[in-house]
Amino acid sequence: MTTGLMWDERCMWHNTGLHFGPSSPWVEPILHPENVDGKRRIKNLLDVSGLTDQLSCPKFNKATEEDILRVHSSKYLSEVLKLSETGGGNLAKRLATTHIGEYGLDIALLAAGGAIAAVKAVLDGKLDNAYALIRPPGHHAEADEALGFCIFANAALAGMYALEVYGLNRIAFVDWDVHHGNGTEAIFWDDPRAYTISIHQDKCFPPNSGSVDQIGIGDGVGTNLNIPLPPGSGEPVYLAAFDRIIRPTLEQFKPQLIIVPCGFDAGFHDPLGRMMLTSHSFRRLTARIMEVADKFCDGKLVLTHEGGYSPHTVPFHCLAVIEQLSGITSEVVDPYSPPVTPELNEPLQDHQEAAITMAENVIK
Ligand SMILES: [Zn+2]
Repeated sequence: MTTGLMWDERCMWHNTGLHFGPSSPWVEPILHPENVDGKRRIKNLLDVSGLTDQLSCPKFNKATEEDILRVHSSKYLSEVLKLSETGGGNLAKRLATTHIGEYGLDIALLAAGGAIAAVKAVLDGKLDNAYALIRPPGHHAEADEALGFCIFANAALAGMYALEVYGLNRIAFVDWDVHHGNGTEAIFWDDPRAYTISIHQDKCFPPNSGSVDQIGIGDGVGTNLNIPLPPGSGEPVYLAAFDRIIRPTLEQFKPQLIIVPCGFDAGFHDPLGRMMLTSHSFRRLTARIMEVADKFCDGKLVLTHEGGYSPHTVPFHCLAVIEQLSGITSEVVDPYSPPVTPELNEPLQDHQEAAITMAENVIK
């Protein structure tokens, strides 16, 4: 197995400032939740565990204007450029959550380039699978609009590259960030070539987004699937969603490439989510998605880093995912999770079962 790690120190220079959310004179400046700590701590743990040395870490370039315009409008690209060149600030029209720093355009282009390079390397057979440890994240960004810490839609840009440049016919996204993957959904809303699946905390972020009845439009009807789960859901609920909904959906669609917008904010310590996943859970989800990828697309799998805001636990969640992707086990023991336990097969609570059944009915 050759697993790629897309990493460039310059992505860590993405400056989200000392402010988050609506403007108010009463908020003492504090690091934005999407700051460098969690990501750099992931890389540091990969380094000290010895894992980085056993991965392939290719250099990559910024996404080109042509790459960006496959998904985003030129008007939006100009807006990003203008704010980047005039000192930075909030890019989002809604909710004021997307900060770009001065000269931040190049960093956002580099993050998108990392996702695209990961897909290229996997499709070229240079890597078996890859993890793009990039920032800013991407899955909330829409064609014309920044949202939720996301500037360019990294995963969607990489997927569109696979469709348009490599001529693939069927790609699938399985987004397990705790928030709805609204950007990827909107970008491929009427596109039957991409099956967009998002499993997320119900009614969390963005507001009024990610309900089970959103299934696509036109030719894209039936190629968008939302699995909103109740707050407090842990491993048994996620694994049930995978086994009863995600796996059968992918088996029917037979993707040629799978992209996972991978957030760790469904982890049990996360301040921006209310879910209960552990490192074992992320490892098990990764094992399941790899099984499907092995079956239908020769293992071709790319993960793009999205959310995850608990800097102490996120490194262990990500290490578990990359150990699983690479088949390499490090000596690291996650002190925040219980010792490795068998998969939790406890029965779902009634409200959890109801949520799974509702999404299950969509694919029947
Ligand atoms: Zn998130």
